Amino acid sequence: MNCGKCAAKIAGQDVHEHNGLILCEDCYIDAVAVLKTCDPWAVYTASRTVSKGVSLTDELQLCVDVLKVKGPATLEQICSELGIGEHEFRTRFSTLRHMGLARACKKEEQVWYTL
Ligand SMILES: [Zn+2]
Repeated sequence: MNCGKCAAKIAGQDVHEHNGLILCEDCYIDAVAVLKTCDPWAVYTASRTVSKGVSLTDELQLCVDVLKVKGPATLEQICSELGIGEHEFRTRFSTLRHMGLARACKKEEQVWYTL
């Protein structure tokens, strides 16, 4: 069986079905992650919160500052700059992305984080 997105050969437990497509593990995770971050209601409520002038927590503000100075930067660079773990940063980053304050892009197999 082949993945419906990247055409990789897949078998057994790596086969996932999503919206009628057969996907490999990687593409499935991608598809699910995209759905989560593109949830219009979450984005709407998050941007409303920002426009109401609610200030960021210190932790989130620190992320914004680092992204402002260092961005676009890789996960490794940002984590060492902030002195936090990958998981911690991903959690903060997803909040910032929902607020429309930060984004990630993929270039040369690396994910770059920026404002
Ligand atoms: Zn795939």
